[in-house]
Amino acid sequence: MKQNAMKRTLALLLAGLLCLALFAACKKSETTDGTTAAPTDGSQPDSTEPAEAPYDYLVLVNKASKLPDDWEDIVVLEDAQNTIPEGVELNKDNEYLATDVFKVETKALAAFRAMQADLAEDGIIILLDSTYRSVARQEELWAEFEKDKGIEYCRQYVAVPGYSEHHTGLAIDVCLIKDGVIINDNDQMIAEKEIFGKIHERLADYGFILRYPEGKEDITGFSFEPWHFRYVGVEAAKDITAKGLTLEEYLLLSVVHPSDGQ
Ligand SMILES: [Zn+2]
Repeated sequence: MKQNAMKRTLALLLAGLLCLALFAACKKSETTDGTTAAPTDGSQPDSTEPAEAPYDYLVLVNKASKLPDDWEDIVVLEDAQNTIPEGVELNKDNEYLATDVFKVETKALAAFRAMQADLAEDGIIILLDSTYRSVARQEELWAEFEKDKGIEYCRQYVAVPGYSEHHTGLAIDVCLIKDGVIINDNDQMIAEKEIFGKIHERLADYGFILRYPEGKEDITGFSFEPWHFRYVGVEAAKDITAKGLTLEEYLLLSVVHPSDGQ
């Protein structure tokens, strides 16, 4: 019913995001650690202990905003595996949870582990289900699906390589263990409102936001995903959560009011 208003809002947002991209590109050399600008050729600085990651934890990747070209050269990823509690039975559809090695950006992983331990104290068990996925891997997936099912299927169901937030290493999809049973089916997880409600209450304390909230589908371009968390750092996460914003809205407001959240 508010189709036109929504379209207008979306157009404004997209225009704003374009400005933001330009703004961010201009600001980049100033916002590193105050020394010289980081090399852009992918080489690492030769210091032993980098003080700050040379990338932006507020990076915006969505269906209209591509992963920065140098991101995969500079992001620092760590390997992680799940520990499946005793007595939990796996089957062939979910044994990947025990065997896969997940890659997550280093600060995001530390924050996730702290949150996971905190939740476990209250009997809420979350596991890593899907984390970093390279652009190259997404290209392979696209090619496989295109060959098997055709281009129309790809356009509808497969993320365009370069445009998935999972490329950043800062996005984590979780699944649950409830009463000793793994719950990793999307519909089943959406039905677990109470458990996810308790998890969502704690996200910001650990620097995460719920990236695709209910009611913001027209802005994020995604349906509600209670399992998809995005690391942005504690300060930004608390601000975004307190204001009830999506990352898109938050970044747009930051451009309009540069003193906010900087
Ligand atoms: Zn996800």
